Amino acid sequence: MSINKKKEQGFIDTPKKKLYERLVSLESYSYTIISFNVYYGVKIAAYLYNLIQGLIPLSSIRFLISVFFGYFVARALMKIAFYIDPKKEWVIEVIACFDFLILGVVLRVHDHIGDWKQVYEDLIFASFITFLSYWLIKNFVRVVRSKTKKASLDHIIATLNQNITARKEKIAELEQETTKVNHLLDTKNKKVAEAKQELAKIYQEIKDITCVHCGLRWKNKKARVAHESKCIKNPNKKITNDGAN
Ligand SMILES: [Zn+2]
Repeated sequence: MSINKKKEQGFIDTPKKKLYERLVSLESYSYTIISFNVYYGVKIAAYLYNLIQGLIPLSSIRFLISVFFGYFVARALMKIAFYIDPKKEWVIEVIACFDFLILGVVLRVHDHIGDWKQVYEDLIFASFITFLSYWLIKNFVRVVRSKTKKASLDHIIATLNQNITARKEKIAELEQETTKVNHLLDTKNKKVAEAKQELAKIYQEIKDITCVHCGLRWKNKKARVAHESKCIKNPNKKITNDGAN
C-alpha cells in the first residue's frame, strides 16, 4: 500500500526508530536472549551427548535425544526468566552454579587434570561464560518485569480513561434529561400561570356582575351598578324600587 493511500485511509505513520532505539528495545534484547538460548541448548545437548555415551551407544539416537533435551532445557530456562517470582531469584544463582559445572564437563576439565595450564584456561572460559549468562538472564528478568509493570499500569490507565469517558457520557445524558424535565416544568408552570390568570379574570367578571350588598348577580356590570344604588340591602339606597328586588 502506498504512503498516500495509507494516509487517505487514516493510517498514522509511525516514525522509523533510530538504530540506538532499536538496540535498547525489548525486542533487541529478546533476540539476544534467543541467541543465548540456542547456545545454552547446544551446550546442554553436548553435555548430555557425552553423559549417556555408555547408556546409548548408537550416536544418531544419542544425538537426537541430546538435541531435544537441549531444546527443552533452553525453553525451560526462558520460561523461568519470564515468570520467576521476585522472592525466588536465588534460582538464577543456582542455575548459574550448575551452568558452570556443566560447562566444566563439556570442556572436559576432569580430563585435563595434571595439565594445569589447560585447566586454568578452561576455568577462566567457563567462569566468564557463566557470569555472562547469569548477568544476561538477571537483566532480562528485570527488563521484562519493568515492561510488564508498565503494561499493567497502561492497562489500568486505559480502564480508568474508559470509565471516565463512560461517566462523562452518563453525565451528558443526565444533563439532557434535566434539560427536558426543566423544559416540561416551564411549560407546566406557564400553563398554571395562564390558568390562574383565567381564574382571576372569571372572579373579576363574577365580581363585576355581583351586587356587593345582596350578592345577586346581574347580566352585566352596568345592570349591577344600576341595581346597587337601589338595592334594598344598600344602606344608602334611593327610595325608588326596581323589578329585580
Ligand atoms: Zn343588591
